[in-house]
Amino acid sequence: MKNGFIRKIGIKRLICALGIILFCAFLLYTALIRENRLSAASERLAKRFRDVPFSVCFLDVGQADCTLVRQGENVMLIDCGDPDDADTILQQLRKLRIEKIDVLVFSHPHSDHIGGAGAILETLPVGKIYMPYVAAQGESFEALLDLIFEKQIPAQAAFSGDTIPFGECEVTVLSPQKDLHSASLNAYSIVLLLQYGDFRFLFTADAETENEEYILESGLSPACDLVKIPHHGSASSSSPAFVRACGASYAIATTQHDSSNGLPKEDILALWEDSGAQVLCTMDCGCIYAYVSDGGLDVEYTGEPLLFY
Ligand SMILES: [Zn+2]
Repeated sequence: MKNGFIRKIGIKRLICALGIILFCAFLLYTALIRENRLSAASERLAKRFRDVPFSVCFLDVGQADCTLVRQGENVMLIDCGDPDDADTILQQLRKLRIEKIDVLVFSHPHSDHIGGAGAILETLPVGKIYMPYVAAQGESFEALLDLIFEKQIPAQAAFSGDTIPFGECEVTVLSPQKDLHSASLNAYSIVLLLQYGDFRFLFTADAETENEEYILESGLSPACDLVKIPHHGSASSSSPAFVRACGASYAIATTQHDSSNGLPKEDILALWEDSGAQVLCTMDCGCIYAYVSDGGLDVEYTGEPLLFY
């Protein structure tokens, strides 16, 4: 009687253990399938980035900026993320087979835009640097200037109305103006309008409302097909008049979940959405790619953030 009872308990345990093993195997299998699917999708997007005549990649570096633009053999990098993002950026550049940068733009000297610059300058040859005519406090900015000097990379200040040679693209600087005096470093953000074929891309860095007003008054139209939402979706930019004037089909925000300063602001994203743009955030989409090929523009992403915060 006792033996039968023990045997029964033993069988129950065995069944229980088998159930747990099967369940774990199922979880592992689905995780592997998902991983494979994501990695295949990510590879496909990276390959397309290299193959089409013109492509842009908004790297997922959280609430920081790093945007790669490729036209034929020409490569432009706008900003370099935070210092902690350097490895992620270099890894992504390797995946996209980027071996040199022709034009490097430091939009403004805040850490989330120039933080990874040192590692990039140490790793890849850079043809020319554009930056705003403003200095920042701190050792890291001075170290960056020293490194640019040491590497003997030509560097030039960029002002509204300037053009930047870049392959078959027309690149115009919309902001900042030459006589700008602002207490905000963000207001010195280099805003670039890039035209390739029929398509226009607006890279706004962390521009403020005052920059937007200046652009609208300057007569340099910000009308575009794709815009990077200024300043990670902050309410200190994206004024209704500017959003309307852009009239973009796609609005990309470089963001992270649970950011310390509460960005992106939901009502700012809604404003862009109400203007008719499809709003995409790197915190949800991971790296976001835009491609121009066969006379069309389309945007793709894997839906898997590159980084987890
Ligand atoms: Zn920023």
